[in-house]
Amino acid sequence: MLEIADLTICFQNRPIIKNLSLTIAPGTVHALMGSNGSGKSTLASALMGYPQYDIVAGSCRFEGKELLTMPIEHRARSGLFLAPQQPPAIPGVQVFTFLKEAHRMLTQEEVSVTAFKERVYEAFDAVQLDHSFVYRNAHEGFSGGEKKRFEVAQILLFKPKLAILDEIDSGLDVDALKQVSKVLTLEQQKRSFSLLIITHYRRLLEYVMPEYVHVLSQGSIRATGSYSLAQKIDQEGYDGLCL
Ligand code: ADP
Ligand code: MG
Repeated sequence: MLEIADLTICFQNRPIIKNLSLTIAPGTVHALMGSNGSGKSTLASALMGYPQYDIVAGSCRFEGKELLTMPIEHRARSGLFLAPQQPPAIPGVQVFTFLKEAHRMLTQEEVSVTAFKERVYEAFDAVQLDHSFVYRNAHEGFSGGEKKRFEVAQILLFKPKLAILDEIDSGLDVDALKQVSKVLTLEQQKRSFSLLIITHYRRLLEYVMPEYVHVLSQGSIRATGSYSLAQKIDQEGYDGLCL
């Protein structure tokens, strides 16, 4: 469903991702690890279409269509979802309005405010967000935990085909991590969508259990393995891999 071939991405004329190739089959769970600054967020943001990144070579097909020439909203409509590492605050826009607009943009389906609110409350219940959260300003002053719960709630609401989660585990305590992971795993198994989980920690992967673990280093994927690769990194660090 996602086929990245020989991708090179520059930020301010500096190549960050170099000749990277990665294939994600439908319904599979992948983890992407790599030390700070290795380019994980750059890859995720460029796939979603953030304009500050220049694609200088390579291709990326999503569901058979070239992703890299698609406007950002077409990427989202085709079923690509990104939970960014640092979602920008949208002052003056309430969470409910944000979700309703996003839903309309994604599905072009007209749903009444009351009916949509029911769906939102159901998603919030699943991730243990209080209903009053709909009145907060979108992404403004969210705690680490609220951010992550809100991202998973959006996955429940928008039902993407591929969800990229950029460090969804930072800012979550152990209990919250377990609970959010459980909801995510249940949804993944129910709908069998694909997941690309960017993380530093084995703990999240222990709950979500990826089929593939990739390590990004010097701009491309230098190692791929199973969950045991994440365990090795946890014990020995990236240095232990001798990439
Ligand atoms: P990771 O997510 O693996 O920690 P990033 O993709 O955030 O790595 O960063 C990779 C490199 O690209 C870093 O050197 C970083 O400084 C640079 N970079 C990428 N995006 C930006 C940005 N929006 N602003 C400043 N530097 C950036
Ligand atoms: Mg990052």
